[in-house]
Amino acid sequence: MKLNITCIPGDGIGPEIVAEAKKVLDHVALQFGHEIVYTDILMGGASIDVHGVPLTDEAIETAKNADAVLMGSIGGDTTTSPWYKLAPELRPEAGLLKIRKALNLFANLRPAVLYDELAAACPLKEEISKAGFDLLIMRELTGGLYFGERKTVTENGVRKAVDTLTYNEEEIRRIAIKGFDIARKRKKKVTSVDKANVLDSSRLWRAVTEEVAKDYPDVTLEHMLVDNCAMQLVKDPAQFDVILTENMFGDILSDEASMVTGSIGMLASASLNDTKFGLYEPSHGSAPDIAGKNIANPIATILSAAMMLRYSFDLDREADAVEAAVKQVLKEGYRTIDIMSEGCTQVSCSEMGSLLAERIG
Ligand code: NAD
Repeated sequence: MKLNITCIPGDGIGPEIVAEAKKVLDHVALQFGHEIVYTDILMGGASIDVHGVPLTDEAIETAKNADAVLMGSIGGDTTTSPWYKLAPELRPEAGLLKIRKALNLFANLRPAVLYDELAAACPLKEEISKAGFDLLIMRELTGGLYFGERKTVTENGVRKAVDTLTYNEEEIRRIAIKGFDIARKRKKKVTSVDKANVLDSSRLWRAVTEEVAKDYPDVTLEHMLVDNCAMQLVKDPAQFDVILTENMFGDILSDEASMVTGSIGMLASASLNDTKFGLYEPSHGSAPDIAGKNIANPIATILSAAMMLRYSFDLDREADAVEAAVKQVLKEGYRTIDIMSEGCTQVSCSEMGSLLAERIG
């Protein structure tokens, strides 16, 4: 198979971790008989330095012509970098918002996995963490409260602010279909999270999710109120497979789920549109404090590349091989500095990439 991938190395540790993800992908291609064509584009600070804007229209066109986009991370030190003296629409993060919009990326996927070998980093009590967990938050990314009409007015001398939370059934249906499709590739369970006891938008969410579920008799659907879900994530995360939810609830729950794994350098993410196209990136930022030192953990980016193989290319065997290599390397005791613990062997970013690549096949 020919894989046409646009890469965004970005800023900070971005170029280092993307290089390692490419190393692993190249090994996958070699072992499984695929051909990969990479095209790099600039985004964030790297683009500002060259073009004066965080993302050019030409770069967007290149991304649109690819099958998928693999990104490192963008942005610099927000207090010292000159990029943050620019107008908000010219700062690095504006590039990210622009590409998400241009590519219609409405579904955000954030897996949270607790690896046995890293269980000590999990902030939950051992009696909970020992069950392990492997869940995925599917968050609606382009609707709801963050995109509704908003205003601040003064009425009779009193300031009043209004934000509106709107969803139509099509927006709900397309993300629900994604959620059920992805559950089919996992443990076949969807927990739809809402606040249907209070909000009309949640009642519609629940109704449409139930309609979609009828086409997926092999997938179990359950509903959960968002406040309960926030509790269950720390009480019994092992119960979840796919958590399907709207924009703001997903924003909060996905950060909570990441924290319970305890390892920021291990967390992958993907943003998808209604085709197989997706943008894959680690959940963490550009870590300017450690950039250029070859000590960053490349695993989140490498696991994002595995998601790309699974969701954009339907190469499940290849994705399994990458994920198995991660488990194997952790089991053998290799660690980058951020996940280092006593008795393990500390390796650099590039060494970690090589160790993973060697274990694929
Ligand atoms: P950050 O995630 O970059 O770093 C937080 C801490 O985690 C730092 O101490 C960093 O060294 C460490 N860390 C992060 N990733 C690591 C890795 N792979 N290996 C080892 N350690 C790692 O968050 P921040 O410092 O708040 O943000 C830095 C910049 O990144 C900012 O400009 C921010 O806007 C940007 N950012 C970009 C994205 C994105 O591109 N999607 C996401 C979040 C933050």
